[in-house]
Amino acid sequence: MPRRIEFVTYRPKTILNKGKRADHWFWSRYSAYPYKSCLHRCHFCYCRERKYCPLEDMDDFGYVIQVKENAPELLRRALTRLPVDIVITGDYQAAERKFELSRRMLEVCLELGFPVSVLERSPLVLRDLDLLKEINQQAPSVVFFSLISAPDSPSYERVRQMENLAPAMEKRYAAMEQVARAGILTGACMMPILPGLCDTDENLEATVRWTTEHGGQFVLAAGLTLADQQRDYFFGVLRAQFPDLVPLYERLYPPNSYGPVRSGDPHAIGRRIRELCQQYGIADRMPRPIIPGDKRALNKRVVEALANECYNMELDNAPQQRIWAYRRAAWAIEDTEQDLGLIYRAMGRKGLESIENVGPKLAEVVEDRISEWT
Ligand code: SF4
Repeated sequence: MPRRIEFVTYRPKTILNKGKRADHWFWSRYSAYPYKSCLHRCHFCYCRERKYCPLEDMDDFGYVIQVKENAPELLRRALTRLPVDIVITGDYQAAERKFELSRRMLEVCLELGFPVSVLERSPLVLRDLDLLKEINQQAPSVVFFSLISAPDSPSYERVRQMENLAPAMEKRYAAMEQVARAGILTGACMMPILPGLCDTDENLEATVRWTTEHGGQFVLAAGLTLADQQRDYFFGVLRAQFPDLVPLYERLYPPNSYGPVRSGDPHAIGRRIRELCQQYGIADRMPRPIIPGDKRALNKRVVEALANECYNMELDNAPQQRIWAYRRAAWAIEDTEQDLGLIYRAMGRKGLESIENVGPKLAEVVEDRISEWT
């Protein structure tokens, strides 16, 4: 007999995770989710890691959904005291049909003027498109989709098997198209790129092409991570359903590894995605949503440019020292309360150099950006 699904409601004390500053992948500063565990049960899901999934019985993941019934109230209380920045939120697994907590959390973001970032594997997010449009008009937001393949990729069927009960990718691409038509920034999050399934050139090309054809403006890509109980679960699935892939994964993920251990060039796939995105006229980074009139808009755009440069340098295997110089400068500018334009007008390049971790060389880079945009 199939196992019953249980919804366990509870009232946590807090809900919001707060970063020191916006992260350079998703540009979000805050995150808050209404449910724990997931009915989609993707076999590779990192949420099975011990730190995210402290369940006694691992089989409960995907059958016992913990529902934070006071999520909207907690979110309102937390955001009321914080500076406006992007909140990554929303979870449109089937629990949302019953509890509608994601919708109520979006209502809180709208009411308080916070932009949102929603990353989904379910087209159910379209139910709240009215609300997302309103939020986007007030504060530019992003609604994007987890997509690691496309229907005309030769590995599509096997990738779908790995996604287990997640809704069909065709529906996600169709949802992306509707989000794009609504004027909301959208794209694909190609994570995780599963070795032997998603990393073939045909699969990478099909994913970038489908994203472009459905109004996506970017493809963000990253590899699979495996840790503790999640790793054991995943290898169990490989042995049972994908035995031909076991030797490859044993080689790439030796015991105690987290990311793949590749002997050759670790960034070859990232560079291929970058090339494909350039070919199709989209980005391999998420454009940073910035609220019109934000007095620190210039700072944020400069940070975005430096972060993109960091990523490009990583892909091109540049020296770590150089990458870290850019990253530290980006953090320092993100933390600078004063408008960079004001600093520059008052003190010129010397003013830029006076910002912590922005030495003479990077001040020149920042100056070029400011001159270009002002
Ligand atoms: S949709 Fe899949 S990857 Fe995302 S949380 Fe659910 S099970 Fe995990």
